[in-house]
Amino acid sequence: MKLVTCGLPYANGKAHIGHLRTYIPADVYVRYLRMMDEEVIFVCGSDCHGTPIVVNAEAEGISPRELVNKYHKHFEEMLKAINIEFDYFGKTDSEEHHTRTKDIVERLVKNGYVYPKEIELAYCPVCKRFLPDRYVEGICPYCGSHARGDECDQGCGRHLEPGEILKPKCKICGSNAIYRKQKHYFFRLTDFKEFLLDFLEDVDGTENALNYARQWVKGELRDWCITRNLEWGVKFPGEDLVVYVWVDAPIGYITFTEKACEKLGKDWKEIWMDGGEIIHFIGLDIVYHHCIFWPAMLKGSGYSLPDGIVASGMVKVEGKTFSKSRGYVVWVEEDYLNSGFSTDFLRYYIVNYTSHQKDLNFSWELFKEKANNELIATFGNFLYRVFHFAWKNFGEINVSDVDSALLEKISETKKKIEKSIREWEFKMASDAFMELAAFGNNYFQSAKPWELIKTDKEECERIISSCLQLAKALLIFAYPVIPKTISKMVEVIDLKTDELNLEDALKLAGKINLRKPEVPFEKIDDDKIEKMEKLMIERIRKAEGGEMETEISLEDFKKLDLRIGKIIKAERVKKSKKLMKLEIDVGDEVRQIVAGISEDYSPEEIEGKLVPVLVNMKPAKLMGVESRGMILAADVDGKPVLLHPDKDVPAGAGIR
Ligand SMILES: [Zn+2]
Ligand SMILES: [Zn+2]
Repeated sequence: MKLVTCGLPYANGKAHIGHLRTYIPADVYVRYLRMMDEEVIFVCGSDCHGTPIVVNAEAEGISPRELVNKYHKHFEEMLKAINIEFDYFGKTDSEEHHTRTKDIVERLVKNGYVYPKEIELAYCPVCKRFLPDRYVEGICPYCGSHARGDECDQGCGRHLEPGEILKPKCKICGSNAIYRKQKHYFFRLTDFKEFLLDFLEDVDGTENALNYARQWVKGELRDWCITRNLEWGVKFPGEDLVVYVWVDAPIGYITFTEKACEKLGKDWKEIWMDGGEIIHFIGLDIVYHHCIFWPAMLKGSGYSLPDGIVASGMVKVEGKTFSKSRGYVVWVEEDYLNSGFSTDFLRYYIVNYTSHQKDLNFSWELFKEKANNELIATFGNFLYRVFHFAWKNFGEINVSDVDSALLEKISETKKKIEKSIREWEFKMASDAFMELAAFGNNYFQSAKPWELIKTDKEECERIISSCLQLAKALLIFAYPVIPKTISKMVEVIDLKTDELNLEDALKLAGKINLRKPEVPFEKIDDDKIEKMEKLMIERIRKAEGGEMETEISLEDFKKLDLRIGKIIKAERVKKSKKLMKLEIDVGDEVRQIVAGISEDYSPEEIEGKLVPVLVNMKPAKLMGVESRGMILAADVDGKPVLLHPDKDVPAGAGIR
C-alpha cells in the first residue's frame, strides 16, 4: 500500500496558485498510479495551529477555531472544484490529531530525545507577555534581512529558533521587546545527524529538496525548541505550553491516514508502523521541516520513515516572484473560478508548463495560448473530429484492425508516461499525450477519410477504427491531467473513468456504439484575458502604495543622486548565486555596492567599466554584505543588462 500526502494548507488564508503548484501534480501522480493498478491512499488536511492563526483571529475578532473552520471549508470547496480528490482531507484541530501528537511527543520524551532548558525569549514589557514566532519581528542573525520570529522568509529562508532574532519588536503593539528567561523543551536533533545523512542518501525524491537538506545537515545542526507560550495548539504533556506547530503539523499525515483507512477499511499501521511506502509532495519552502525535523521525529518515536520527498519548484506570476502582499498572486476562487475558466486548463498549465522541480511562471497570455493552441487546437480537435466523423458516418464501428504504426506510437507514449511517473516529471507525461494527439491529427489529415467515405468505405472504416483506438488511448492517458473533460468525452465511446487503465490503451476497443460528441472545450477569448491582466496590474499598483501618482515632478527626480561610477573591483559574494560585491568610484569616494548580476556577468568582464549609480540609496545588507548605493541596469525578462555611457566620462559625472 502506498501513501501520498500533500503539504498541509495553512488555515488562515484562501487558496492560491502556490497551493495548486503542489496539489495538482500530486493528484495527477495518484491518478496515474491507480491506472497502473497501484493501491494508493491520498491524504491532506488543514494545518490549524501556530501563531499566525491566533494573530489573524484576534484581528478579525473571532476565535482561532472559527477562523480555522472558515478556511477549512473554503479549501474543501476549492479542492472539489479543481478535482483534487483526497481520500481524506482533515484538520489538525481534531481530537484524533491531538491524541496522535501526544503519543509521538510522549514517545520522544520516553526515548530520551527531549530535555528542558532555560532560554531567553522575546518578551513585550508593554503587553506583558512572551512573544512566540509571528508575534515578534526583527533582523535575521544569518543574513541581516527583516525576519519574522521563526522564519527568515524574505531573506535566507532559514528556520529561526526562539531567541535568535535580533532587535526584536512586538508585533502587537510595536514596542521594542526584551529578552527574558523561561523554561522550554528541546528535541535532540543533534543526535540524529548521522541518521539524517544516511536517510537523505537513501530516500527517493527530487534533488532540489534533497540537495538543499543535505547541505543543511552537513552544516550546523542544532537542537530544536519544540514548545511555545500559546493557548492554541496541542498541549505539551504536564506543562502550560503547546507544542510548536511544526511538531504537530506533519503528524497530521498520520492522523489523516488513520481516518482515511477507517473509511476505506484498511489498517493505517501497515503504512506508519510497518514500513509502507510513504511519499510526501511539498513546496520548496518546507524542505527543512520535511527532510530534517520530520524524519528525525519519526525515527525517534519508532514510526515508519518517508520513502520519497517530492518538492515542486517555486511559483512566479507574470515573471515576478509569487507574493500575496505585493499582488503577484492568482486566487483560485476570486480570480480563476469566478471568471468561469475550465479547471482543466489550469491543471494542464501547471502540469505542462515546466519540470516539476523548476520555477513555474503563470502568465495569463501564456495560459490562453496553452489552452487555445494545445488543449483545444491539438488535443480537443483530434478527439472531436474523429468522434464526430465516426458518429455521423458509421454510428457503430468495430475496432478490430488497427494500423500497426499507430499501435507502436501508443505503446511508445505509454512507456513515456510510465517513465515520467517514476521520475516525478509530469510535464513529460502531458507532453507525451499531446504529441500523440498531434500525431493523430496528421494521420487523420493525410488519410482524408472525408474523401475515402465516398470512394472506398471499407478503407475509410479501417482508418477511422485506427483513429478511434488512438482516441481511446488519448482519453486514458490524459484523464489524470484533465479529468473533468475526459469524464464527459469517455461517454461518447461508452467508457467509464473509474475503469480506465493504462494497459487498456493498447487493447483493441472492439465494438463501439458512438454517441453524439460535444465540443470538449470552450475557447478563451482575448477580452477575458485582457480583463484578467488589468485586474492584476491594478492589484499590484494598489499593493505598491494605493493611489500613488504615476507621474513625478522634476523636484522628485532631483532627489535622486544619480552619477556615473567606475567599477574598480568586482568579486562574487560567497554562497550566493546572484550577488556580486562591487567597489565603485562615484567621484568623491569609493562605495561598496552589492548587485544581483553574478549569473550574467563575471567579475573580470566588468572591472573598469562605467555604470550609472543611484548614490543616495538607503544602505542595505545583502547576505550579510553591506551595500551603499545601487547600480542601474536594463531588465530583460528578469535578467540584468548593464548600461554604459556613450563616451568615456570621469567617475562621478552627474546624470540628468
Ligand atoms: Zn536570513
Ligand atoms: Zn507589545
